[in-house]
Formats: sequence, C-alpha cells, structure tokens
Amino acid sequence: MRKQIAAANWKMNCTYQQGEKLLDDILKSKPSLQPQQTVIFAVPFPYLIMASSAVANENNVSVAAQNCYQKKSGAYTGEVSVEMLQSIGIRYCIIGHSERREYFHETNADLAAKTDLLLEMDIRPVFCCGEALEIREAGSQNTWVEQQLQESLFHLPAEKLTRIVIAYEPIWAIGTGKTASAAQAQEMHAFIRGVLAAKYGKEIADEISILYGGSVKAANAKEIFGQPDVDGGLVGGASLQAEEFVSIISALK
Ligand code: PGA
Repeated sequence: MRKQIAAANWKMNCTYQQGEKLLDDILKSKPSLQPQQTVIFAVPFPYLIMASSAVANENNVSVAAQNCYQKKSGAYTGEVSVEMLQSIGIRYCIIGHSERREYFHETNADLAAKTDLLLEMDIRPVFCCGEALEIREAGSQNTWVEQQLQESLFHLPAEKLTRIVIAYEPIWAIGTGKTASAAQAQEMHAFIRGVLAAKYGKEIADEISILYGGSVKAANAKEIFGQPDVDGGLVGGASLQAEEFVSIISALK
C-alpha cells in the first residue's frame, strides 16, 4: 500500500515556545501509526532542529522544511539551501506551495530545479500543485495541473519520480474554509494518477502518494482521505490545534 501521509504545514505561525508545546501535545496524544502511515511536520526554518529532536524517538514521524532555494550555495542572502537542510537531517521539503508561487513568483522551472537539488541530497519533495478559482470556473483545472506536473517533474527518470510526494491543493480551498468535495478531490487525484501513469506506467503511478490540501479539518478528513486516490492531506490551519490534527492523523487509511 502507498504511504498515507498527514502533513502539517505550520506556514508562518507559532513562536518557538508555542511550536514546542504544539508538537509535544500532538505527539503525546496521537494514535500509534500503522506501517503505511506517516506524519510530517513542516515547520519554520528556525524550528527544524527542535522539531527533529522532538520526533527523534517516534516511528514514522518526520520533519519537513516549507521551502528551499533553487541554487546550490552562494551569495543569496536570506535563502536556505538544500545542502543546509540535508546537513541537519531533514528528509522532506514542501515545494511550490501556492503561496510561494503567488507571493514569491516561483515558476514551474524554479520548482524543477528545486526538485533536482532535493533528490540529489536524498530529501523528498512534497510538490504542491493546484488551480485558482478562475481556472476551475473556466473548466481548465486538468490542463493547468497537468502542465505544472509536466514542467516541474516530468524530466525525472521513473526511479526518481517515486521519491516525490504530490499535494493537490486547489487555491480556492486554501485557508478559505471551502473544501473541495470528496468527489472533486477524488476526480482530480485520479486525473493526476492517470497523467503519471501515461508518462511512467501504472505501476509507478500507483506507488506515488497524492495528498489533498485545502481546509482539511477533523470534520472532513475521514471522508476525503477515504477516497481511493487520496493518500492523506497537507493541512494548514487545522494543524495548529493539537486535537484537530490528532483527529486528522486518526483519519488516515
Ligand atoms: P489550509 O492550508 O488547511 O489552512 O487550507 C492548506 C495548505 O495551504 O497547505
């Protein structure tokens, strides 16, 4: 069975002390994880080491960065390289979140470069894709998402593609309280898996975890994660409340 993942995306929230407490509360009350289940905490850069040590004795719990820079090293003041992440033991990194694409103008080509650097350093990219409301209203969401995948991932050979986690996050559902219906999520996830299968074959496509993101909460996680092509979620707002996030973890297949 593919990995089923509950990933918390803290974004730019929490002080160090609040983050420590949140992690502690979640780790104390989360259910024990099945072998196919993984929990990931994507925390702000200054908390990566603290979070890594908090989860060090947990099975199937990892820490992720929320971003990395697309150049190896050098004069890029304020940026964080993939090598830096690797040197502190980070195993996952979110890339291409719609907030990064919108506010920091990240392009599909930038994300292709980040993907390559991460895989070179054996860090698994959590690659975000998804359409804005206008695109959905025009009925072009499939073409849009397919192009995001093609331009950022399809240069990879199959054995590298299997290291990627995909997160489908319709922008109109992020932080808005508006969730895609379970049927809408399933439809897009099946489409994404179909696009992967057309390029890499069904066996490879079936190995890749595709997470749903956008207003996932305790009340809707079970139904969304229950869809056959939904392999868990990337959770923003609801991951900042211990009880909510623990219920979301409990909703994993
Ligand atoms: P949300 O954010 O759960 O607050 O909608 C999800 C995300 O942006 O990853």
